[in-house]
Amino acid sequence: MTATSEPPLEASDVAVLVPAAGLGMRLGGGTPKALRELAGESLLVRCCRNLSGVGLIVVAAPPDAVDLVARLVRGAVVVAGGQTRQESVANALAAVPSEFDIILVHDAARALAPFSLVTSVAKAVRDGHDAVIPVLPVVDTIKQVNALGDVVATVDRAELRAVQTPQGFRRALLAKAHATVTDSHTDDAGMVERLGATVHTVPGDPRAMKITTPADLRLAEVWLDS
Ligand code: C5P
Repeated sequence: MTATSEPPLEASDVAVLVPAAGLGMRLGGGTPKALRELAGESLLVRCCRNLSGVGLIVVAAPPDAVDLVARLVRGAVVVAGGQTRQESVANALAAVPSEFDIILVHDAARALAPFSLVTSVAKAVRDGHDAVIPVLPVVDTIKQVNALGDVVATVDRAELRAVQTPQGFRRALLAKAHATVTDSHTDDAGMVERLGATVHTVPGDPRAMKITTPADLRLAEVWLDS
């Protein structure tokens, strides 16, 4: 972490779940995405190092790579992931001891997210928001299109935000969402919204970009050099 004017917020009461069991087909390369290397180090190892300072890290690994991942990220609890991200998060959540009341969920694919994002999300949960997500403004104009590829509507981007991780939750709310929401969601906040709970936003960080394509990997290398 770089030096700031404020001391780092204590995060030892926070558990972070890291879903890392995706195959990452869009990245190619034949290796699970979390194990792909960025400047000589896997995304997962970088991700976990950027999280050091939290009380517990639970990684959901590809089922056939649990032992390998446990050797790579010593100090983390490693469980087998599921068929979907949602299942992987549920498996990781089940491994968190009851003393952790603040749970963050953070994609291994966002390996360069700075620790300051962890502390700002955790602080917002501590301050009384039971569900918190980091967001960035949307810079592109967004169109809604139909199956023919024709534009149906132009969405007002001033009201839109791009959502990142880590997302933070009071444990009871996240556990309820995973126990009761059965339709599929691409993030945990979406499941919590399904329960009717309010999701609060905090400013995101461009370094928390999701590494999905080979071009993203190159962009991440640029961030590392800057
Ligand atoms: O597929 P997508 O890029 O949305 O995946 C987001 C995160 O969820 C990645 O870190 C990926 O490893 C993880 N994931 C998982 N289990 C799955 C699918 C994705 O842990 N079955």
